[in-house]
Amino acid sequence: SLNESLGRQVGDLLLAVVADRLRNLLANDDVLTRLAADEFVIMRPALQAEAEVKMLASQMLTCLAEAYDIKGQRLSISASIGIASDDGSVEQPKELLDNAALAVREAKRQGGNTFCWNHGAASTAGTEQVMMRCELMEAIEARQFVVYYQPLVEAKTGRLRSAEALVRWNHPVRGLLLPGAFISLAEQTGQIVAIGRWVLHQACMDMAQRWRQTGQAVSIAVNISPLQFRRPEFIDDVLAVLEASGLPPELLELEVTEGVLLSGIDKAISMLESLRDLGVQVAIDDFGTGFSSLSYLRQLPITKVKLDRSFIIDVTTDRGSAAIVQGVITMAHHLGLLVVAEGIETVEQQNYLAASDCDLLQGFLYSRPVPLGQFALGLEY
Ligand code: C2E
Ligand code: CA
Ligand code: CA
Ligand code: CA
Repeated sequence: SLNESLGRQVGDLLLAVVADRLRNLLANDDVLTRLAADEFVIMRPALQAEAEVKMLASQMLTCLAEAYDIKGQRLSISASIGIASDDGSVEQPKELLDNAALAVREAKRQGGNTFCWNHGAASTAGTEQVMMRCELMEAIEARQFVVYYQPLVEAKTGRLRSAEALVRWNHPVRGLLLPGAFISLAEQTGQIVAIGRWVLHQACMDMAQRWRQTGQAVSIAVNISPLQFRRPEFIDDVLAVLEASGLPPELLELEVTEGVLLSGIDKAISMLESLRDLGVQVAIDDFGTGFSSLSYLRQLPITKVKLDRSFIIDVTTDRGSAAIVQGVITMAHHLGLLVVAEGIETVEQQNYLAASDCDLLQGFLYSRPVPLGQFALGLEY
Protein backbone atom coordinates (compact mmCIF):
# COMPACT_ATOMS: atom_id res chain seq x y z
CA SER A 1 0.00 0.00 0.00
CA LEU A 2 3.02 2.29 -0.34
CA ASN A 3 2.94 5.10 -2.82
CA GLU A 4 5.53 4.90 -5.55
CA SER A 5 7.95 7.56 -4.37
CA LEU A 6 8.14 5.93 -0.98
CA GLY A 7 8.54 2.63 -2.79
CA ARG A 8 11.57 3.99 -4.60
CA GLN A 9 13.19 5.20 -1.42
CA VAL A 10 12.59 1.78 0.01
CA GLY A 11 14.28 0.27 -3.06
CA ASP A 12 17.35 2.41 -2.44
CA LEU A 13 17.38 1.44 1.18
CA LEU A 14 17.05 -2.21 0.29
CA LEU A 15 20.70 -2.74 -0.48
CA ALA A 16 21.79 -1.12 2.76
CA VAL A 17 19.25 -3.04 4.79
CA VAL A 18 19.97 -6.38 3.18
CA ALA A 19 23.71 -5.98 3.59
CA ASP A 20 23.28 -4.82 7.16
CA ARG A 21 20.88 -7.52 8.24
CA LEU A 22 22.68 -10.37 6.55
CA ARG A 23 26.14 -9.34 7.64
CA ASN A 24 25.94 -11.27 10.87
CA LEU A 25 24.81 -14.40 9.10
CA LEU A 26 27.53 -14.42 6.48
CA ALA A 27 30.95 -15.95 6.80
CA ASN A 28 34.16 -14.11 6.11
CA ASP A 29 34.78 -15.42 2.62
CA ASP A 30 31.12 -15.15 1.49
CA VAL A 31 30.51 -12.60 -1.24
CA LEU A 32 27.28 -10.54 -1.32
CA THR A 33 26.53 -8.61 -4.54
CA ARG A 34 23.57 -6.94 -6.13
CA LEU A 35 22.43 -8.37 -9.47
CA ALA A 36 19.55 -6.01 -10.26
CA ALA A 37 17.48 -3.46 -8.35
CA ASP A 38 16.13 -5.97 -5.89
CA GLU A 39 18.15 -9.08 -6.68
CA PHE A 40 21.11 -10.17 -4.67
CA VAL A 41 23.61 -12.98 -4.93
CA ILE A 42 25.56 -14.57 -2.15
CA MET A 43 28.47 -16.76 -3.14
CA ARG A 44 29.92 -19.13 -0.63
CA PRO A 45 33.14 -20.76 -1.78
CA ALA A 46 33.30 -23.53 0.81
CA LEU A 47 31.30 -26.72 0.36
CA GLN A 48 28.70 -27.33 3.02
CA ALA A 49 26.11 -29.79 4.18
CA GLU A 50 22.72 -29.20 2.59
CA ALA A 51 21.06 -28.90 5.97
CA GLU A 52 23.40 -26.14 6.98
CA VAL A 53 22.68 -24.10 3.83
CA LYS A 54 18.95 -24.52 4.31
CA MET A 55 19.31 -23.34 7.87
CA LEU A 56 21.12 -20.25 6.61
CA ALA A 57 18.36 -19.54 4.09
CA SER A 58 15.63 -19.71 6.70
CA GLN A 59 17.64 -17.54 9.09
CA MET A 60 17.93 -14.96 6.30
CA LEU A 61 14.18 -14.89 5.80
CA THR A 62 13.63 -14.41 9.53
CA CYS A 63 16.25 -11.68 9.71
CA LEU A 64 14.82 -9.75 6.79
CA ALA A 65 11.23 -10.10 8.00
CA GLU A 66 11.94 -8.30 11.25
CA ALA A 67 10.03 -5.01 10.97
CA TYR A 68 11.63 -1.60 10.92
CA ASP A 69 10.33 1.94 10.66
CA ILE A 70 10.63 4.27 7.71
CA LYS A 71 8.82 7.60 7.65
CA GLY A 72 6.29 6.40 10.16
CA GLN A 73 5.52 3.23 8.20
CA ARG A 74 6.40 -0.19 9.53
CA LEU A 75 7.99 -2.32 6.86
CA SER A 76 9.31 -5.79 6.59
CA ILE A 77 11.13 -7.43 3.72
CA SER A 78 10.24 -10.80 2.31
CA ALA A 79 12.51 -12.63 -0.09
CA SER A 80 12.44 -15.47 -2.56
CA ILE A 81 15.68 -17.38 -2.24
CA GLY A 82 17.05 -19.76 -4.85
CA ILE A 83 19.95 -22.02 -4.01
CA ALA A 84 22.28 -23.85 -6.35
CA SER A 85 25.52 -25.65 -5.65
CA ASP A 86 28.37 -26.93 -7.74
CA ASP A 87 28.28 -30.72 -7.63
CA GLY A 88 31.23 -30.90 -10.01
CA SER A 89 29.18 -30.66 -13.22
CA VAL A 90 29.13 -26.87 -13.39
CA GLU A 91 31.50 -25.61 -16.05
CA GLN A 92 31.03 -21.86 -15.80
CA PRO A 93 30.03 -19.61 -12.91
CA LYS A 94 27.03 -18.34 -14.85
CA GLU A 95 25.56 -21.84 -14.92
CA LEU A 96 25.44 -21.74 -11.18
CA LEU A 97 23.76 -18.36 -11.31
CA ASP A 98 21.16 -19.66 -13.76
CA ASN A 99 20.40 -22.65 -11.60
CA ALA A 100 19.88 -20.30 -8.68
CA ALA A 101 17.71 -17.97 -10.82
CA LEU A 102 15.43 -20.88 -11.74
CA ALA A 103 15.15 -21.78 -8.08
CA VAL A 104 14.21 -18.18 -7.30
CA ARG A 105 11.44 -18.42 -9.86
CA GLU A 106 10.18 -21.59 -8.18
CA ALA A 107 10.30 -19.89 -4.77
CA LYS A 108 8.24 -17.04 -6.20
CA ARG A 109 5.81 -19.48 -7.76
CA GLN A 110 5.27 -20.95 -4.32
CA GLY A 111 4.17 -17.53 -3.09
CA GLY A 112 7.53 -16.09 -2.04
CA ASN A 113 9.11 -15.65 1.38
CA THR A 114 10.63 -19.09 1.04
CA PHE A 115 13.64 -20.84 -0.46
CA CYS A 116 14.10 -23.51 -3.10
CA TRP A 117 17.03 -25.65 -4.11
CA ASN A 118 17.79 -26.36 -7.73
CA HIS A 119 19.80 -29.47 -8.42
CA GLY A 120 19.19 -29.64 -12.16
CA ALA A 121 20.79 -27.83 -15.10
CA ALA A 122 19.46 -24.54 -16.41
CA SER A 123 18.13 -24.15 -19.93
CA THR A 124 20.17 -22.16 -22.43
CA ALA A 125 17.39 -19.61 -22.83
CA GLY A 126 17.57 -18.99 -19.10
CA THR A 127 21.33 -18.60 -19.30
CA GLU A 128 21.12 -15.97 -21.99
CA GLN A 129 18.47 -14.03 -20.11
CA VAL A 130 20.46 -13.89 -16.91
CA MET A 131 23.60 -12.86 -18.82
CA MET A 132 21.76 -10.20 -20.74
CA ARG A 133 20.13 -8.79 -17.63
CA CYS A 134 23.56 -8.24 -16.06
CA GLU A 135 24.86 -6.78 -19.30
CA LEU A 136 21.94 -4.35 -19.51
CA MET A 137 22.82 -3.07 -16.04
CA GLU A 138 26.37 -2.46 -17.17
CA ALA A 139 25.23 -0.96 -20.47
CA ILE A 140 23.35 1.81 -18.71
CA GLU A 141 26.37 2.67 -16.60
CA ALA A 142 28.89 2.29 -19.45
CA ARG A 143 26.76 4.43 -21.78
CA GLN A 144 26.55 1.80 -24.48
CA PHE A 145 23.18 3.01 -25.77
CA VAL A 146 22.93 5.24 -28.83
CA VAL A 147 19.97 7.13 -30.24
CA TYR A 148 19.22 6.92 -33.96
CA TYR A 149 16.80 9.26 -35.70
CA GLN A 150 14.27 8.67 -38.46
CA PRO A 151 12.49 11.53 -40.25
CA LEU A 152 8.73 12.06 -40.41
CA VAL A 153 7.72 14.05 -43.45
CA GLU A 154 4.59 15.95 -44.39
CA ALA A 155 2.62 13.83 -46.87
CA LYS A 156 1.49 16.75 -49.04
CA THR A 157 4.85 18.51 -49.39
CA GLY A 158 7.61 16.06 -48.45
CA ARG A 159 8.91 18.55 -45.89
CA LEU A 160 10.72 17.33 -42.79
CA ARG A 161 8.47 17.79 -39.76
CA SER A 162 9.89 15.65 -37.00
CA ALA A 163 12.30 12.91 -36.02
CA GLU A 164 11.62 9.73 -34.10
CA ALA A 165 14.27 8.69 -31.60
CA LEU A 166 15.00 4.94 -31.78
CA VAL A 167 17.40 3.39 -29.33
CA ARG A 168 20.24 1.03 -30.28
CA TRP A 169 22.60 -0.88 -28.04
CA ASN A 170 26.23 -0.73 -29.00
CA HIS A 171 27.07 -4.11 -27.49
CA PRO A 172 30.78 -4.57 -26.81
CA VAL A 173 30.79 -8.09 -28.32
CA ARG A 174 27.67 -8.45 -30.44
CA GLY A 175 27.82 -5.07 -32.15
CA LEU A 176 24.90 -2.75 -32.77
CA LEU A 177 21.69 -4.34 -31.46
CA LEU A 178 18.16 -3.29 -32.49
CA PRO A 179 15.49 -2.77 -29.83
CA GLY A 180 13.92 -6.12 -30.76
CA ALA A 181 16.92 -7.82 -29.15
CA PHE A 182 16.65 -6.21 -25.73
CA ILE A 183 13.59 -4.00 -25.14
CA SER A 184 11.21 -6.75 -24.08
CA LEU A 185 13.70 -8.12 -21.55
CA ALA A 186 14.30 -4.58 -20.29
CA GLU A 187 10.52 -4.26 -19.88
CA GLN A 188 10.39 -7.47 -17.88
CA THR A 189 13.18 -6.42 -15.55
CA GLY A 190 12.10 -2.79 -15.23
CA GLN A 191 15.41 -1.62 -16.70
CA ILE A 192 13.44 0.08 -19.48
CA VAL A 193 12.71 2.91 -17.04
CA ALA A 194 16.39 3.87 -16.80
CA ILE A 195 17.03 3.25 -20.50
CA GLY A 196 13.97 5.25 -21.53
CA ARG A 197 14.86 8.15 -19.27
CA TRP A 198 18.30 8.26 -20.86
CA VAL A 199 16.86 8.17 -24.41
CA LEU A 200 14.45 11.00 -23.57
CA HIS A 201 17.30 13.10 -22.23
CA GLN A 202 19.68 12.37 -25.11
CA ALA A 203 17.05 12.96 -27.80
CA CYS A 204 15.99 16.31 -26.33
CA MET A 205 19.60 17.47 -25.95
CA ASP A 206 20.41 16.42 -29.52
CA MET A 207 17.40 18.09 -31.07
CA ALA A 208 17.65 21.26 -28.99
CA GLN A 209 21.22 21.62 -30.16
CA ARG A 210 20.27 20.98 -33.77
CA TRP A 211 17.42 23.48 -33.43
CA ARG A 212 19.77 26.16 -32.10
CA GLN A 213 22.29 25.47 -34.87
CA THR A 214 19.90 25.34 -37.84
CA GLY A 215 16.88 27.28 -36.65
CA GLN A 216 14.72 24.44 -38.03
CA ALA A 217 11.81 23.67 -35.72
CA VAL A 218 11.81 19.89 -36.17
CA SER A 219 9.98 18.12 -33.36
CA ILE A 220 11.38 15.07 -31.65
CA ALA A 221 9.27 11.97 -30.97
CA VAL A 222 10.37 9.68 -28.15
CA ASN A 223 8.96 6.21 -27.40
CA ILE A 224 7.76 5.85 -23.82
CA SER A 225 7.23 2.43 -22.28
CA PRO A 226 4.02 1.93 -20.28
CA LEU A 227 6.22 1.20 -17.29
CA GLN A 228 7.78 4.67 -17.56
CA PHE A 229 4.49 6.38 -18.24
CA ARG A 230 2.81 4.83 -15.22
CA ARG A 231 5.26 6.30 -12.71
CA PRO A 232 3.97 9.52 -11.13
CA GLU A 233 7.57 10.83 -11.32
CA PHE A 234 7.42 10.67 -15.10
CA ILE A 235 6.03 14.18 -15.34
CA ASP A 236 9.00 15.47 -13.31
CA ASP A 237 11.39 13.65 -15.66
CA VAL A 238 9.79 15.41 -18.63
CA LEU A 239 9.88 18.79 -16.93
CA ALA A 240 13.53 18.32 -15.97
CA VAL A 241 14.51 17.30 -19.49
CA LEU A 242 12.77 20.33 -21.01
CA GLU A 243 14.60 22.58 -18.60
CA ALA A 244 17.98 20.94 -19.10
CA SER A 245 17.76 20.99 -22.89
CA GLY A 246 15.93 24.26 -23.42
CA LEU A 247 13.75 22.48 -25.99
CA PRO A 248 10.39 24.25 -26.49
CA PRO A 249 7.73 21.86 -25.07
CA GLU A 250 5.69 21.89 -28.28
CA LEU A 251 8.68 20.35 -30.08
CA LEU A 252 8.58 17.29 -27.81
CA GLU A 253 6.25 14.47 -28.72
CA LEU A 254 5.84 11.32 -26.66
CA GLU A 255 4.81 8.08 -28.38
CA VAL A 256 2.85 5.76 -26.14
CA THR A 257 1.04 2.55 -26.97
CA GLU A 258 -2.40 1.45 -25.91
CA GLY A 259 -0.53 -0.46 -23.18
CA VAL A 260 -0.58 2.70 -21.04
CA LEU A 261 -4.34 2.24 -20.65
CA LEU A 262 -3.81 -1.09 -18.91
CA SER A 263 -3.17 0.57 -15.57
CA GLY A 264 -6.58 2.24 -15.75
CA ILE A 265 -7.92 4.80 -18.15
CA ASP A 266 -8.43 7.45 -15.45
CA LYS A 267 -4.79 7.34 -14.39
CA ALA A 268 -3.68 7.48 -18.00
CA ILE A 269 -5.92 10.46 -18.70
CA SER A 270 -4.63 12.40 -15.74
CA MET A 271 -1.00 11.82 -16.84
CA LEU A 272 -1.93 12.85 -20.39
CA GLU A 273 -3.58 16.01 -19.06
CA SER A 274 -0.47 16.92 -17.07
CA LEU A 275 1.61 16.47 -20.22
CA ARG A 276 -0.80 18.59 -22.23
CA ASP A 277 -0.58 21.30 -19.56
CA LEU A 278 3.19 21.29 -20.05
CA GLY A 279 2.58 21.84 -23.77
CA VAL A 280 4.02 18.48 -24.80
CA GLN A 281 2.44 16.51 -27.68
CA VAL A 282 1.36 12.88 -27.33
CA ALA A 283 0.88 10.27 -30.06
CA ILE A 284 -0.71 6.86 -29.78
CA ASP A 285 1.78 4.46 -31.40
CA ASP A 286 1.10 1.19 -33.21
CA PHE A 287 -2.50 2.27 -33.51
CA GLY A 288 -4.91 -0.48 -34.51
CA THR A 289 -2.89 -3.36 -33.08
CA GLY A 290 -4.18 -3.01 -29.53
CA PHE A 291 -7.15 -4.44 -27.75
CA SER A 292 -9.04 -1.22 -27.20
CA SER A 293 -11.97 0.07 -29.16
CA LEU A 294 -11.68 3.18 -31.28
CA SER A 295 -14.12 5.05 -29.07
CA TYR A 296 -11.69 5.56 -26.18
CA LEU A 297 -9.63 7.86 -28.43
CA ARG A 298 -12.28 10.51 -27.91
CA GLN A 299 -11.55 10.57 -24.18
CA LEU A 300 -7.79 10.92 -24.47
CA PRO A 301 -6.11 14.33 -24.58
CA ILE A 302 -3.68 13.40 -27.37
CA THR A 303 -2.58 15.03 -30.59
CA LYS A 304 -1.72 12.27 -33.03
CA VAL A 305 -2.17 8.62 -33.93
CA LYS A 306 0.40 6.47 -35.68
CA LEU A 307 -1.04 3.78 -37.89
CA ASP A 308 0.86 0.56 -37.37
CA ARG A 309 3.14 -0.68 -40.13
CA SER A 310 1.18 -3.93 -40.42
CA PHE A 311 -1.65 -2.00 -42.11
CA ILE A 312 0.70 -0.11 -44.41
CA ILE A 313 2.50 -3.19 -45.74
CA ASP A 314 -0.43 -4.24 -47.93
CA VAL A 315 -2.53 -1.09 -47.96
CA THR A 316 -2.32 -0.85 -51.76
CA THR A 317 -3.32 -4.49 -52.33
CA ASP A 318 -5.51 -5.59 -49.42
CA ARG A 319 -9.00 -4.16 -49.11
CA GLY A 320 -9.19 -4.93 -45.40
CA SER A 321 -6.04 -2.95 -44.58
CA ALA A 322 -7.15 -0.13 -46.87
CA ALA A 323 -10.52 0.06 -45.10
CA ILE A 324 -8.90 0.25 -41.68
CA VAL A 325 -6.45 2.91 -42.84
CA GLN A 326 -9.23 5.02 -44.38
CA GLY A 327 -11.42 4.56 -41.33
CA VAL A 328 -8.73 5.59 -38.88
CA ILE A 329 -7.77 8.65 -40.91
CA THR A 330 -11.37 9.85 -41.22
CA MET A 331 -12.17 9.25 -37.59
CA ALA A 332 -8.92 10.80 -36.29
CA HIS A 333 -9.50 13.92 -38.39
CA HIS A 334 -13.01 14.25 -37.01
CA LEU A 335 -11.46 14.20 -33.55
CA GLY A 336 -8.93 16.85 -34.55
CA LEU A 337 -5.97 14.47 -34.49
CA LEU A 338 -3.11 14.18 -36.95
CA VAL A 339 -2.36 10.79 -38.52
CA VAL A 340 1.06 9.31 -39.23
CA ALA A 341 1.64 6.24 -41.37
CA GLU A 342 4.81 4.35 -40.49
CA GLY A 343 6.67 1.80 -42.59
CA ILE A 344 6.40 3.58 -45.96
CA GLU A 345 8.76 1.71 -48.27
CA THR A 346 7.34 2.32 -51.75
CA VAL A 347 6.20 5.26 -53.83
CA GLU A 348 2.83 3.47 -54.27
CA GLN A 349 2.30 3.42 -50.52
CA GLN A 350 3.32 7.07 -50.30
CA ASN A 351 0.92 8.13 -53.04
CA TYR A 352 -1.92 6.07 -51.64
CA LEU A 353 -1.58 7.58 -48.18
CA ALA A 354 -1.12 11.11 -49.42
CA ALA A 355 -4.28 10.70 -51.51
CA SER A 356 -6.07 9.31 -48.44
CA ASP A 357 -5.32 12.54 -46.55
CA CYS A 358 -2.79 11.02 -44.17
CA ASP A 359 -0.82 13.89 -42.61
CA LEU A 360 2.66 12.53 -42.02
CA LEU A 361 4.70 9.69 -43.47
CA GLN A 362 7.66 7.77 -42.10
CA GLY A 363 9.61 4.88 -43.55
CA PHE A 364 12.67 3.52 -45.31
CA LEU A 365 11.52 5.28 -48.52
CA TYR A 366 12.69 8.54 -46.92
CA SER A 367 15.40 7.29 -44.63
CA ARG A 368 16.32 4.48 -42.28
CA PRO A 369 17.00 5.53 -38.71
CA VAL A 370 20.48 7.10 -38.68
CA PRO A 371 22.88 8.59 -36.11
CA LEU A 372 22.44 12.30 -35.41
CA GLY A 373 25.41 13.27 -37.58
CA GLN A 374 23.73 11.79 -40.65
CA PHE A 375 20.25 13.03 -39.86
CA ALA A 376 18.42 15.24 -42.37
CA LEU A 377 20.71 18.04 -43.33
CA GLY A 378 18.09 19.37 -45.71
CA LEU A 379 14.40 19.94 -45.19
CA GLU A 380 12.94 18.24 -48.27
CA TYR A 381 12.34 14.56 -48.96
P1 C2E B 1 8.11 1.66 -33.28
O1 C2E B 1 7.99 2.72 -32.25
O2 C2E B 1 6.87 1.21 -33.95
O3 C2E B 1 9.20 2.21 -34.29
C1 C2E B 1 9.17 1.97 -35.66
C2 C2E B 1 10.04 0.81 -36.05
O4 C2E B 1 9.83 0.53 -37.41
C3 C2E B 1 11.55 1.09 -35.90
O5 C2E B 1 12.19 -0.14 -35.59
C4 C2E B 1 11.92 1.53 -37.32
O6 C2E B 1 13.29 1.34 -37.62
C5 C2E B 1 11.05 0.62 -38.13
N1 C2E B 1 10.74 1.18 -39.44
C6 C2E B 1 10.59 2.45 -39.79
N2 C2E B 1 10.31 2.58 -41.10
C7 C2E B 1 10.29 1.34 -41.60
C8 C2E B 1 10.05 0.78 -42.90
O7 C2E B 1 9.81 1.50 -43.89
N3 C2E B 1 10.11 -0.55 -43.02
C9 C2E B 1 10.38 -1.37 -41.98
N4 C2E B 1 10.44 -2.67 -42.18
N5 C2E B 1 10.60 -0.90 -40.72
C10 C2E B 1 10.55 0.44 -40.55
P2 C2E B 1 13.28 -0.27 -34.47
O8 C2E B 1 14.16 0.93 -34.46
O9 C2E B 1 13.89 -1.61 -34.59
O10 C2E B 1 12.40 -0.21 -33.14
C11 C2E B 1 11.50 -1.21 -32.84
C12 C2E B 1 10.62 -0.85 -31.69
O11 C2E B 1 11.38 -0.74 -30.50
C13 C2E B 1 9.93 0.50 -31.82
O12 C2E B 1 8.82 0.35 -32.65
C14 C2E B 1 9.59 0.79 -30.39
O13 C2E B 1 8.41 0.13 -30.02
C15 C2E B 1 10.74 0.17 -29.65
N6 C2E B 1 11.69 1.23 -29.25
C16 C2E B 1 12.68 1.82 -29.96
N7 C2E B 1 13.32 2.75 -29.23
C17 C2E B 1 12.69 2.78 -28.03
C18 C2E B 1 12.89 3.54 -26.82
O14 C2E B 1 13.75 4.43 -26.71
N8 C2E B 1 12.04 3.27 -25.77
C19 C2E B 1 11.07 2.31 -25.87
N9 C2E B 1 10.27 2.10 -24.80
N10 C2E B 1 10.87 1.58 -26.97
C20 C2E B 1 11.67 1.81 -28.04
CA1 CA C 1 7.28 4.73 -32.14
CA1 CA D 1 4.99 2.54 -34.25
CA1 CA E 1 5.43 -0.72 -34.59
